[in-house]
Amino acid sequence: MNIAPHPSLSEYVAKRDFEKTPEPLSGQKKSADLIYVIQEHHARRLHWDLRLEKEGVLKSWAIPKGIPEAPKIRHLAIETEDHPYDYAAFEGTIPQGQYGAGLVKIWDSGRYTQKVWEQDKIEINLSGQRLHGNYVLVRLKKSENQKNWLILKAKDT
Ligand code: MN
Repeated sequence: MNIAPHPSLSEYVAKRDFEKTPEPLSGQKKSADLIYVIQEHHARRLHWDLRLEKEGVLKSWAIPKGIPEAPKIRHLAIETEDHPYDYAAFEGTIPQGQYGAGLVKIWDSGRYTQKVWEQDKIEINLSGQRLHGNYVLVRLKKSENQKNWLILKAKDT
């Protein structure tokens, strides 16, 4: 049985029909560590979704070009709605006609630590299956709805 969704998931819930999509409705923290996931999402346009656990949900960004794997390369990351904790384990096909229709595969997952988490700047250290090291997200303040960020790999310290 599903538990009630987290209050910050109203946008996530409103966009989806849970009779039709296999995506999770909710989820509760299962590990003492903070977790992250990067999902390869074959939607209308291929992109990678970065999701970072924060206060019981997954803060999310869609990254059209994927995560930069070398320093000095900056990729656009578009902030999207909070996703439920259980989304970190989700792989499957979102049916045609549903929001985000297409195949979702886990590209990387693991634990992360927060170094800085501010309104416009996030610095994290990823320790995953694939990625390791420091990453920075910076909000582009001049973007129209302030949902555009840049993500880059920082030098390892
Ligand atoms: Mn997506």
